[in-house]
Amino acid sequence: MPYCDHNATAPLRPEAREAVARALALTGNPSSVHAGGRAARALVEEARQAVADLVQAKSDSVIFTSGATEANALALWGAVEAAMDGGKPITRLLVSAIEHKSVLKTAEAIAGHVTDMRLEIVPVTAGGVVDIDALAGLLQGEGRALVAVMAANNETGVVQPITEISRLCREAGALLLVDAVTAAGRMSLDAGVCDYLTLSGHKLGAPQGVGALIIGDAAPLVAQLVGGGQQKGLRAGTENLSGIAGFGAAAKAVLSNDEECPRVAALRDGFERALKEAVPDAVILGMSVSRLPNTSNIALPEIAAENVVIALDLDGVMVSSGSSCSSGKISPSHVLAAMGVNDLSSIRVSFGWNSSKDDADAVVASLVKLWQRARSRAAA
Ligand code: PLP
Repeated sequence: MPYCDHNATAPLRPEAREAVARALALTGNPSSVHAGGRAARALVEEARQAVADLVQAKSDSVIFTSGATEANALALWGAVEAAMDGGKPITRLLVSAIEHKSVLKTAEAIAGHVTDMRLEIVPVTAGGVVDIDALAGLLQGEGRALVAVMAANNETGVVQPITEISRLCREAGALLLVDAVTAAGRMSLDAGVCDYLTLSGHKLGAPQGVGALIIGDAAPLVAQLVGGGQQKGLRAGTENLSGIAGFGAAAKAVLSNDEECPRVAALRDGFERALKEAVPDAVILGMSVSRLPNTSNIALPEIAAENVVIALDLDGVMVSSGSSCSSGKISPSHVLAAMGVNDLSSIRVSFGWNSSKDDADAVVASLVKLWQRARSRAAA
């Protein structure tokens, strides 16, 4: 069955599957001093190094978490609380309008709980890129800021100007959180440009339920989970050994395969060309700006994205809609709304390490069939 939803979850890589199985065969808590514990600890540290290498960081800056939702919450709450505790308090959260809900909702919660904290949303351009002038203007305001901008957007794949944002933040004395969940493995990343960087294993081909926060040398952080003092006291709890081992193996697999990104880029570009040829009315969002090599965000005018996703699913093709569906309610994409796109609903087709031309062809065939059916219904 064609699976084209890698930005939601990438299929488990064989290297990760093997590493998970090896870890599950071990008995030992990574904190135990006996041989079993030491073997488990060695796996955790090997994975920590691999994840650090993925983002050009030092291994001791990697804190494993249960995923990127936790890593984003740890960075945001942990930074705000640490700054209150002694450093220069953070009084402003500058969050891009296209952040993942784990960042946006956490920022809203912090602004609702912390006295004198303001949440300001940084707009994006019609192309889906953070508006640098608007951010520069906001950074001129009073009070120390914590800025959150993702490296690339999970719905559109649009790459954000992190180097420039980093420079602006440093000049203004602001802290910077980069959610690199979708970008990791699909473009080169350097954790050195920010204070906090977050990753999620399952977007890379590791199992679900494991992620990481990478912290800069001078980044303030207070633990949000306390207890056994694991991970230098910054994230207590027995490490998820098998998940972490799978995460490390997936990171190594990404780093050792230089051909994966160009291959996926060629597949995605060929897919978009074929679709535009067959359905010239199809709109591909974010095409005018730099995008990740694997993501395509497509709208078929006058066909609701939910109907497209269902029609494709009936053909055995798996993609996502740009909308989020929670508690049975479907809400329009906040990312598209931020780009000023209010009259289209779109689907996201995202390829990855095991995607084939057959997968891409199946998406095109299914979309063309749906489009022709809609056209003939409209003409009747
Ligand atoms: N950030 C982005 C950009 C995401 O796409 C996701 C997941 O969809 C998350 C954060 C949350 O990651 P996790 O599923 O590991 O909690």
